[in-house]
Amino acid sequence: MDGPSGTGKTTVARTLADRLGAGYLDTGAMYRAITLAALRSGIDVADADAVTTAAKAAELEVGTDPNTPVALLDGGDVAAEIRGDAVTSAVSAVAAVPAVRDLLVDQQRRIIAGVLADVGGIVVEGRDIGTVVAPDAPLKIFLTASANVRAARRLAQDSAAGRESNHVDVLRSVDRRDRLDSTRATNPMRPAYDAVEFDTTDLGVEGVVTSLCELAEQRGILAGRGTTS
Ligand code: C5P
Repeated sequence: MDGPSGTGKTTVARTLADRLGAGYLDTGAMYRAITLAALRSGIDVADADAVTTAAKAAELEVGTDPNTPVALLDGGDVAAEIRGDAVTSAVSAVAAVPAVRDLLVDQQRRIIAGVLADVGGIVVEGRDIGTVVAPDAPLKIFLTASANVRAARRLAQDSAAGRESNHVDVLRSVDRRDRLDSTRATNPMRPAYDAVEFDTTDLGVEGVVTSLCELAEQRGILAGRGTTS
């Protein structure tokens, strides 16, 4: 599942994974944790070599249970800190470094293979999942939504998490990140040629998840798996 920020990806992906009895991987959390490692080491995130060194030194662990998001950096819980402004502003620069992407795409493929072997299914969210990380995935989704709705959703998340912000600043930040993510040279955000595009502007989480469950069923992905209701 790919798409820009604020399209509801995380909520939809976790709800879908839970409903399908599948694992879940938030690849954005991995880029965010590496960004935090770079910021903590005091380097300039525009320095690709220094970012690569910080990324290689970082010990990263992310959970795959859709109901218990876990993000550990060097053994410490960073789940809240990676959502803060400092990381959000710097993450697109870090995610544009080709060596960082190589490192994380390798890790993501290993995690996916492990969960597929253990649980039999996984919902993975990011920007390049359908195009690069899992080009053979049996169902690829690209979520979209209007810029205003995406900013409003981000704002709601920020205030729920106690982070101060306003609509204009959030809209600017969402726009900037999406522009950087979709124009970078290595693995830019874009829908896979065979992705199903879903506009979530006027749809609630439940509507999107129900449609995706139906799609999964049509494609035979749920054969032999648990309930979809
Ligand atoms: O999904 P989330 O907003 O947490 O992602 C944070 C950032 O991580 C994105 O803006 C993007 O720069 C980067 N990212 C990426 N490729 C992915 C997932 C996230 O480049 N597969």
